[in-house]
Amino acid sequence: MAKQKTLKNSVFLSGIALHTGARAKLNLSPAPENTGIVFKRIDLPGSPEVKASAANVVDVRRGTTIASGNARVYTVEHVLASLHAAEVDNAIVEMDGLEPPIADGSAEPYTQMIIDAGTVEQSADAKYWTASSPIIVEEGDTKMVLLPYDKFKITCIVSYGASPLDTQYFSGEITTESFAAELAPSRTFCLYKELEQLLALGLVKGGSLDSAAVIHNGAIICKEGLRYQNELARHKTLDIVGDMYLVGRRVKAHIIAVKPGHPINIRLANEMLKQSL
Ligand SMILES: [Zn+2]
Repeated sequence: MAKQKTLKNSVFLSGIALHTGARAKLNLSPAPENTGIVFKRIDLPGSPEVKASAANVVDVRRGTTIASGNARVYTVEHVLASLHAAEVDNAIVEMDGLEPPIADGSAEPYTQMIIDAGTVEQSADAKYWTASSPIIVEEGDTKMVLLPYDKFKITCIVSYGASPLDTQYFSGEITTESFAAELAPSRTFCLYKELEQLLALGLVKGGSLDSAAVIHNGAIICKEGLRYQNELARHKTLDIVGDMYLVGRRVKAHIIAVKPGHPINIRLANEMLKQSL
């Protein structure tokens, strides 16, 4: 039986927050058994906490936002993906603002933090979410099918229409090693027309080609070229690894995702929570 894990040491990352453009610092620290993943807003009076749970999701429009009381935390999915893949069950994620540093738009900096911190086994048994029956959620042309499976596997198909690399596909078992090598480095993408809307709303002030790749008129604009031929499908898979950790335990299932996004990911996570009751 696998044991719960936490971090061996505290580590931090600082950088620019995507939407506010402010400097942001994120600190990962060890936590006792059965704590789960808890975000802490250390810039607010009393340092309020928000547990990483689908029940605390309040917004899914530009990433996954969780909140509890007056404490709100944006864009939790990339740090959660790294913690899920590394099988870190218990950790405190301290933040000094609304958003974590976006870094290069991938999960690689968070995965590197966990490697730098090291992990340590605790005495309690690890908890897994397993499926008792298939789950299907659909919305428009997006669809998620979850099947019982004794490991964690994701099959993902994306299509942006505007991309020359349509249609993209990724399928694989998610392990600590496969995530670090095949998924963590894949970056956030956005459509140019979405970017125009976000800028008009005063958002993405900290965004640049350092932190995302942009799809415009059938071309992909990014700084260093694509990291993988199917980088979009890999990033969407990464987001699923993160959003599914909002069930509060390591996931064992095969998830087949067609054109996924945060809204449908969170609907699936909520259905998973209902099944585990
Ligand atoms: Zn993402």
